[in-house]
Amino acid sequence: MPNLTGLRTVRISGENRHLPVEWRPFRPVVRPLTRCIRFQEKVLAIPLLQKLMVGAYIVRQHVIGNKRYPLALMLEPLFRCNLACAGCGKIDYPDAILNQRLSIEECLGSVDECGAPVVSIAGGEPLLHRDMPAIVQGIIARRKFVYLCTNALLMEKKLDDYKPSPFFVWSVHLDGDQQMHDHSVCQEGVYDRAVAAIAAAKARGFRVNINCTLFNDARPERVARFFDSVMDMGVDGITVSPGYAYERAPDQQHFLNRDKTKTLFRGILARAGEVRKWSFSQSSLFLDFLAGNQTYHCTPWGNPARTVFGWQRPCYLLGEGYAKTFKELMESTDWDKYGTGNYEKCADCMVHSGFEATAVTDTVLHPLKAFKVSLVGMRTEGKFAPDIPLDKQRPAEYVFSKHVEIALADIKRSGSGDKVERAETVAAQ
Ligand code: SF4
Repeated sequence: MPNLTGLRTVRISGENRHLPVEWRPFRPVVRPLTRCIRFQEKVLAIPLLQKLMVGAYIVRQHVIGNKRYPLALMLEPLFRCNLACAGCGKIDYPDAILNQRLSIEECLGSVDECGAPVVSIAGGEPLLHRDMPAIVQGIIARRKFVYLCTNALLMEKKLDDYKPSPFFVWSVHLDGDQQMHDHSVCQEGVYDRAVAAIAAAKARGFRVNINCTLFNDARPERVARFFDSVMDMGVDGITVSPGYAYERAPDQQHFLNRDKTKTLFRGILARAGEVRKWSFSQSSLFLDFLAGNQTYHCTPWGNPARTVFGWQRPCYLLGEGYAKTFKELMESTDWDKYGTGNYEKCADCMVHSGFEATAVTDTVLHPLKAFKVSLVGMRTEGKFAPDIPLDKQRPAEYVFSKHVEIALADIKRSGSGDKVERAETVAAQ
């Protein structure tokens, strides 16, 4: 476009804007602001409505002096899945447990009890749950933001059961390009089906994110190319996290330790370029933490998990015990027993479900620090921020079998092992 007299044309957020030529001396100010606007618009894929509602919720919690509050409920209405990924800690439960479902009433009751403004429905594969559309609808009616996680095998078939809404996001599991993802989920053709489902959902006006878990075989250049391809698909946001070494995951060889995580994320973020191309659905300070620039303790109550066993202690990743109610979980968990530096199983954890809430709280308490990271991006060179010492951590306790025995005894006592229609799962596949 030709310059207008007395104005010069600059591109801001993909649009031509005409600024007075005499603004040139303010370039040192205008340039960083332009970068910040681009970062806010492109890199953080959280819509304004969600930012405002979640921000208001956090401020309210601080005003009423609530020290521990949930940000996102991790709702797992079933453990059953139609894949068997090597990095998953949920798939080797006995059938009687895999056949359990949380009912609509239990799911919505948990949403009300917890009160978090965001609900992430995970599993297992949530689309195997017959009542999932009613559960999603009930959560949206409560004006909570729903992220429906799926491996996408059933997504295209079930799209008609859902309606686009500012409160609803499909969160499709994609751990990399075709070869990376199919390897990660141990089945060929899954990537192609997920990509087709994403395209179908976008064509119908849904918001679609991908959730990507990275392991120690991830290479920064390749992940960067994958993120480029995901943005080309029209995806709205990327949720990325290092994998957590679930003690029951069949493949224990490929989890990242802390230093490898930081190095990997520095390598990836360094490839984002000056005008970052990727829309992350995570806070800039969480990404900065992954890049090794923040020393954070986790906030396990930030993403409390409700599963078919009850309210999981202490967090979404670790099942060390279960409470009957959210109140009991919050009040009776000895939180100081967990977290990096306190417990061996937490030593390498840098997962978003443990640390995003820490980063979001830090953003609210230190907006200037968060603004600076938004403005200049994450540092990808130089020394890492100091890490939490591990010399006082208590040794791991292996309690999985005990919980399985207790759950099986409960199921036997109540006869609920028979109440789930197995046909529902089989038919859905
Ligand atoms: S570090 Fe925190 S979030 Fe991670 S496993 Fe331990 S308690 Fe859970």
